[in-house]
Amino acid sequence: MSDIQSVAVIGAGTMGSGIAHVFAKSGFFVTLCDVEQRFLDRALASIRTNLGREAAKGKLPESEVEPILARITSATSMESLSDVQLAVEAAPERFELKAEVFGTLDHILPESAILATNTSSISITRLGALTHRAEQVIGMHFFNPVPVMSLVEVVRGMATSESTFTMVRDLSTRLGKTPVEVNDAPGFVSNRVLMPLINEAAYSVMEGVATPEAVDQVFKLGMAHPMGPLTLADFIGIDVCVDILRVLHEGFGNPKYYPCPLLVRMVDAGWLGRKSGRGFYTYDK
Ligand code: NAD
Repeated sequence: MSDIQSVAVIGAGTMGSGIAHVFAKSGFFVTLCDVEQRFLDRALASIRTNLGREAAKGKLPESEVEPILARITSATSMESLSDVQLAVEAAPERFELKAEVFGTLDHILPESAILATNTSSISITRLGALTHRAEQVIGMHFFNPVPVMSLVEVVRGMATSESTFTMVRDLSTRLGKTPVEVNDAPGFVSNRVLMPLINEAAYSVMEGVATPEAVDQVFKLGMAHPMGPLTLADFIGIDVCVDILRVLHEGFGNPKYYPCPLLVRMVDAGWLGRKSGRGFYTYDK
């Protein structure tokens, strides 16, 4: 298993398409899975656009774009994954959904395969315990946009073996990323710290303390953040933020993580941020 070549990415949304992009670009054969062909088509189109953009900027030879795309196959079922050596799950941030995906992967993938999850906050230990290979279950937490952001939080569950950890850490380096080791706790480090910031920023808007623009200016100009917390929330997806806050709230049992009602209302309205064209700001789709 030391020489992984064949990878599955489950969920072809914002993160799954980026994860498929970086694996294929690094020479891996990728099967990208989603529940409907239209989501796969959308992901493949966005990978093509992003690779084209890299080529236009001189970061990638134009002649490599088609070979990279040719390394990505799409599938609407996980049945075809029986030869895959590593799966990276990037389905929506809901425990029941991920539990179902992990059950299917555990059943279909070879016994030696590693099951990684890109979850932002759900317990790796809990997901691992649902499988017959908890020592081969690990968090591989990429950041958005995946082709651009260099961090991968590599998250050890309670049962994750040393060899699984080493394999995934080295693999992250092969993808051109910088792995940072963390242990399993709700939200790991990134979202445990970031989500309360976004939540408080949303409360500041809801309570009329400041406009979204003003909140973001404070962080850009006063704290040298490259983008303010509400621009970042739109980028991550307001629905994803609410899902993560709910996991933190449940995981720590602390009311400080309760999602701001404004965020919840925005999700109800379909104002999910950049991906839906409207969040704290409006975007051309
Ligand atoms: P998304 O909603 O953009 O994409 C999720 C995709 O999964 C959708 O295309 C959906 O159709 C598909 N899906 C749903 N059920 C499925 C199933 N049973 N099998 C296969 N595919 C299925 O979500 P996203 O923003 O890409 O987030 C995915 C995961 O990555 C979540 O766990 C999230 O917490 C995590 N994450 C998100 C970000 C971010 O900035 N968006 C960053 C890091 C980690």
